[in-house]
Amino acid sequence: MSDVNRREILGAAAVTAVGLLGVTGRAEAAGNESQQELPTFRYAMEEQTGRVTEGGSAKEATVKQLPISKGLAGVSMRLKPGGLRELHWHANAAEWAYVIKGRVRTTVIAPDGTSEVNDFEPGDVWYFPRGHGHALVGLGPDECHFVLVFDNGAFSEHGTFSITDWLGHTPADVLAKCLGLPESVFAKFPKEELYIPQGRVPPERPEPPRQGMLKSSPQTHRYPLMAQLPHARFPGGEERRVSAREFPISTTITGVIVDLKPGALREPHWHPHANEWLYFITGRARMTLFGSGGRARTEEFGPGDAGYIPQGFGHYLENVGDVPCRVLVAFDSGEYQEISLSTWLASNPTKLVADNFKIVDDMAAKLPDRRVFITTKKGKGA
Ligand code: MN
Ligand code: MN
Repeated sequence: MSDVNRREILGAAAVTAVGLLGVTGRAEAAGNESQQELPTFRYAMEEQTGRVTEGGSAKEATVKQLPISKGLAGVSMRLKPGGLRELHWHANAAEWAYVIKGRVRTTVIAPDGTSEVNDFEPGDVWYFPRGHGHALVGLGPDECHFVLVFDNGAFSEHGTFSITDWLGHTPADVLAKCLGLPESVFAKFPKEELYIPQGRVPPERPEPPRQGMLKSSPQTHRYPLMAQLPHARFPGGEERRVSAREFPISTTITGVIVDLKPGALREPHWHPHANEWLYFITGRARMTLFGSGGRARTEEFGPGDAGYIPQGFGHYLENVGDVPCRVLVAFDSGEYQEISLSTWLASNPTKLVADNFKIVDDMAAKLPDRRVFITTKKGKGA
């Protein structure tokens, strides 16, 4: 607003001036909003082809596909029976996973030489600390499907180190000297990363490692999340959670499964110290992100969509479909923190809340006096 306009307004009658300023203020806010609109926080992950090799496939959601998702990335991976996600490690991220369908076996090694072999079924979770070497193999009889989460949005590019890629770029004479086979053998090794070659279906009982006995990992890498009772249960839905408290090795990632019945709302809340990455397993939900400064954005999510909520941003989730909605949620912290709207309001005096919203005390007194979390209730008419 120019000085001339401001003087004109200030020179007008007080009541009129307030009215004009009010209108102008909103117009200015709307202008700013369009300039710095919130970016999309949804990515149709399963609609992509992804990377397909002989033993399986992988679809990624990283900062490349979903630029807002700087803190966390995800991969939807499928392995055929015997499909082998080859020996590899991630230089800049820990790996967390949730199994949706089928069975998969993992082997993982730690720098102290200890290792673990685990079999996973639907509802199970794994965690591999950053840089620890691992491999995955589909156990059959059907294809398995799981969602991987990494605590770095840029985990993929230049961050994933596969053994065929590495050995394919190491001279055969060096490999011969180190590993004791003739150079001619290494000359025939794959020259580029195989990623997911097709292997044999492993026997039910894991075969012993090449060194004979395993030196067992001091902490397990497996947590059967869906075998636990929900920590929160409401008429509209329930939530299961696994943080480092329940699963000590998982020091940098917390996972949650939220189940919402049709019409149910996971109330507005924020996470003070973690980013949030989501994968919609079943159902349809609407999510609204509040980014301060008058910025809010609503997007609708369906099965196979990924989502992202930056640390500290307000958000809520509502099942807008007619079937139950199940969402996988992961945070880039081993400790879970959250503040919900209802709890916040309930923690303040009625009069303060009434003054804040300019409503009468009687109305403020009817606001929830405890956490709502998940609800299907609507307000009763005024
Ligand atoms: Mn991995
Ligand atoms: Mn949340």
